[in-house]
Amino acid sequence: MTETPQQTVLIVDDDRISRTMLAELLKDECRVVLAKDGASALQRIEEDPDICLVLLDVSMPEMSGYEVLIKLRGNPLTADLAVVFISGFTEEENEEQGLQLGALDYVFKPIRPVTVRARIRNYLKLVAQRRELQRLASHDGLTGLVNRRYFDEALALACRQAARRGEPLNLAMIDVDYFKQYNDRYGHPAGDEALRQVARLVQRHARRPDDVAARYGGEEFVLLLPGQPDFGALLEALRGEVQALGLEHLSSKVAPCVTISVGAVTATVDEAEEAAAALLHRADANLYAAKQAGRNRVVRDGAAEPAA
Ligand SMILES: [Mg+2]
Repeated sequence: MTETPQQTVLIVDDDRISRTMLAELLKDECRVVLAKDGASALQRIEEDPDICLVLLDVSMPEMSGYEVLIKLRGNPLTADLAVVFISGFTEEENEEQGLQLGALDYVFKPIRPVTVRARIRNYLKLVAQRRELQRLASHDGLTGLVNRRYFDEALALACRQAARRGEPLNLAMIDVDYFKQYNDRYGHPAGDEALRQVARLVQRHARRPDDVAARYGGEEFVLLLPGQPDFGALLEALRGEVQALGLEHLSSKVAPCVTISVGAVTATVDEAEEAAAALLHRADANLYAAKQAGRNRVVRDGAAEPAA
């Protein structure tokens, strides 16, 4: 695991000299950004998702460091952000309060430069490891796509957003045709490579920030493309691209190469908790229909797209 030089640390302190001193101390360890009060710190954090560690003064006018941390913890997007208090209060109860709020550490002013730098270096390592663990937990090791667990959460979120905005959602389930027979004939390493190549093509169609391409299981992928107006054409293009890879598959009954079947749905959803499951169920039913109709095709909302 390597430390990324791009790690960004936000220093929040109402005292300019303290800010500058800390910034100077850390300039070789990370990218440093500064804020002089709680409100601008919260704004910076919202605008800069690269910020992975916050060094937070406790005593500031208007909003204390404690209040800033409570606000961060109350927002799902920032709830896990690493925070270290830097404080002139040396009472034990202040330290206790800070740590109980969920700060990583509580450092007393005046700071001792060498130890503070070493501690922050350790925290940056910790934060990088935590990010890597999160990445591993949410991604599929074989294809690099996000995994089913991540996808299920993304779909639930997308349903809530789509319901609020009254926009339709596009969901496709994608299955590699006769994949068991491919593995049987060409072996598992070749099967893995075929999945990687198909995954790469699936991923290429998830271009916008809210798009999700995931490995759903075995040889099954899902594409979630909210607000994509050309969904049908896009899926038909994907189907053609997979066929055009030309990966030999002489045990396939539909083509002499690897192909996919796609079941897709475009639908408005409501806020109901079952919305996501219902959408998946409809896509899955259309995938089944695509297989029944002979595979290597897209079935969307119950209607077969004309095969190229
Ligand atoms: Mg202060």
